Amino acid sequence: MQKRLKSIGVFLVVAIFAAASLAGAEDADQALKKLMEGNDRYVGGSCMQRDLSDARRNELAKGQKPSAIVVTCSDSRVSPELLFDQSIGDVFVVRTAGNVVDKIALGSIEYAVEHLHAPLVYVLGHEKCGAVKATLDTIEAKGKPEGNIGAILEKIMPAAVAANVKGGSKDEIVENAIKENVKNTSNEIMAKSSIMQHLVHENKVKIAGGEYSLQTGKVEAIELAAEKVHHGGNGKKGH
Ligand SMILES: [Zn+2]
Repeated sequence: MQKRLKSIGVFLVVAIFAAASLAGAEDADQALKKLMEGNDRYVGGSCMQRDLSDARRNELAKGQKPSAIVVTCSDSRVSPELLFDQSIGDVFVVRTAGNVVDKIALGSIEYAVEHLHAPLVYVLGHEKCGAVKATLDTIEAKGKPEGNIGAILEKIMPAAVAANVKGGSKDEIVENAIKENVKNTSNEIMAKSSIMQHLVHENKVKIAGGEYSLQTGKVEAIELAAEKVHHGGNGKKGH
C-alpha cells in the first residue's frame, strides 16, 4: 500500500512538473503572440484603447504580472509599450543604448523571470541603431570612444567585427551588425545567467528576438541560437 502511495506520489510530482513546464512554454508562446499582435495593431494604426484609469492603477498597485520582458535600445523612437501596443503592467522593460546587457541588466531580467514569473524574454534591436553605427565608426576611425560610452561599444564590438568580416555595402554592414548584436545579447543573457539557463532548460521561459523598423513600425523576427547555449553549445550564431 505504502509502495503504491509512493508511486502515486512520484507520478503526481512528475505530472505537476510536466504540466508546469508545458504551462511555461504555452505562456511564452502566448506572450510572444500578444506582442506580435500588438505590433500588428501599431503598424495598422489601430492601437487599443489603453485602460489608464484610477481603477486599473489601483489594481496594478497590488502587484504586477508582466507577460514579457523586453530588452531593447534606449532610442527615443523605440518605445516597447507603444510599438507592441501594450499598456501599463504588461511589459517589464530593460533599456540600454544598443540593447546590450551588463550585470545590472541581467539582474533585472532575472528578477522578472524568477519573481514576477514573466515567461518570455524578447531582445529587440532596431534599424539604424546609433550605438551600433558608433561602434562601426570607431572601428573605421581606429579611435577610442569617450567616457562610459566605451563600455557600450565594447559589448557591440563582436557584432560589428563579424558584420565587417561578412562585408557588403555600408548599409548592409550596419544592418548585419544590428542583427548580430541581437543574437549576441540573447547569447549573453543565456551564457551569463544560470537562472535563465535553468528556466529555459525547464521550458518555463523562452527567449526570442527581433528587429524594429523605424520606418514601417514592423518588428521582424530574428532567429536566435541562444536557447542552445545551455545544451553545451558555444554561443555561436546560426548564420
Ligand atoms: Zn539604438
